[in-house]
Amino acid sequence: MKSILWFRRDLRVNDNAILAHAKGEVLPIFIFDTNILSGLDRDDKRVSFIYQSVLQLKIDLQILGLDLAVYYGDPELIFAQLKQDGFKSVLCSCDFDAYALQRDRQIETILEMKRFYDSYLLHPSLHVKADSTPYRVFTPYYKALHPLWMSDYIEQFVPAKNLQLAKANFTSVPTLSDMGFVMQKLPDFLYKSSSDHLEDFVAKIEHYKENRDFFALDGTSNMGIRLRFGLISPKQIFNRVKREVGSEFYIRELFWREFYAYILYHFPQTQYENFNDSEVAYENNERYFQAWCDGETGFPLIDATMRHFNQTGLMHNRLRMITASFLCKNLLIDWRWGEQYFAKKLLDYEASSNIGSWQWAAGTGADAAPYFRIFNPCLQSEKFDAQAKFIRSIIPQLAQCTPKSLHVEGGLGENLFLDYPKPIISLAVSRQKALAAFSKKTV
Ligand SMILES: Cc1cc2nc3c(=O)[nH]c(=O)nc-3n(C[C@H](O)[C@H](O)[C@H](O)COP(=O)(O)OP(=O)(O)OC[C@H]3O[C@@H](n4cnc5c(N)ncnc54)[C@H](O)[C@@H]3O)c2cc1C
Repeated sequence: MKSILWFRRDLRVNDNAILAHAKGEVLPIFIFDTNILSGLDRDDKRVSFIYQSVLQLKIDLQILGLDLAVYYGDPELIFAQLKQDGFKSVLCSCDFDAYALQRDRQIETILEMKRFYDSYLLHPSLHVKADSTPYRVFTPYYKALHPLWMSDYIEQFVPAKNLQLAKANFTSVPTLSDMGFVMQKLPDFLYKSSSDHLEDFVAKIEHYKENRDFFALDGTSNMGIRLRFGLISPKQIFNRVKREVGSEFYIRELFWREFYAYILYHFPQTQYENFNDSEVAYENNERYFQAWCDGETGFPLIDATMRHFNQTGLMHNRLRMITASFLCKNLLIDWRWGEQYFAKKLLDYEASSNIGSWQWAAGTGADAAPYFRIFNPCLQSEKFDAQAKFIRSIIPQLAQCTPKSLHVEGGLGENLFLDYPKPIISLAVSRQKALAAFSKKTV
């Protein structure tokens, strides 16, 4: 029986569930899905990254004696053709995003689908409370997984032996320009192999806990995008870092990723709706939103973060928390607007983590930051980057300003020679407004 191995968010050959469960004649495939690509900008960096990753996967599969057929089109039409070519089933890894669920339902009407779970450590359905309902708060969820995160090693998948490449009609790989995209320059760390990238991080993991919040330092792993597209599995990361002193805190972060996937799986409506049923009187001022997107708010840390983000698709976790809090609370703009903007640009965009984290920041989510917790971007700037290295490296006209002037609200106002926007809001006034909007309306 000929089967299709459909690679989607598992672009690797090691610890890959579909390669482990495959038998006999197989055709590994990847589809550049026109339904997804049509919604993206021509210069979307993620498409460049996926493209280079797909080419590497093709080489890695060839080393195993297989190959990768790369298609560009509508999955429904491609599977209808593959059915006619004699394929009987599709093996793929689970994907719980709303579009993926709907797409899989359509494909299932064409060919039998066998799904495997290897993008996360644990299937969300396997971990519930004693009363069989899902956890809603991170700490008890995490504590109850003690046996898993205390283990030294989690068994990995090994590719099945004796697989044969099924005959099929596939020729050359479409180029990026065939698909309407332009190759983009990516951050240097994305040109390394996943194992080299992980080893670079392991060399500094000892200092992860103390450095991870200092956004001018390179203290975190930058593994988000590799996890998102499955160039490395969470088990591979877990098993490698577990051998290192000081890995506990990092492993806990990996479980935040698990937790948000868990929440979206059990509460799919939270993609669009507040998790905790609160109602907030947002003002949704479009001019403020645009200033936030463009990095023109007059708050140097917010502006540097957004400008850097627009150029690179990268944003440090603490800066995500600060800019999200600023948008939802100081500017009183609906978290869904910010979530969508991040979804469009974040290199490591993952629906579950993005939605969960935005709801956390807005105070509407699972385990949410309380409504009265409003990050002060000036205090955060001073605390986590005292020398203002980050701001000064991103905004050229601020390069010569003193750190003090950059950490104080309106601190640049006295500099008549500086062409820089004035703060669009007052932190104190907007804070009071937010407290009223959230405390009155939150149920
Ligand atoms: C508003 C907002 C939006 C976010 N959107 C996303 C998103 O779309 N995709 C995404 O992967 N993460 C998201 N995060 C979580 C976090 O910011 C990123 O995972 C992290 O910055 C990625 O960088 P890193 O790999 O260097 O992280 P590290 O600090 O090295 O952490 C290692 C891994 O743990 C996981 N992780 C760490 N923190 C979190 C967290 N708070 N929630 C979920 N997983 C976490 C990630 O997979 C990360 O790669 C968001 C956070 C906020 C506040």
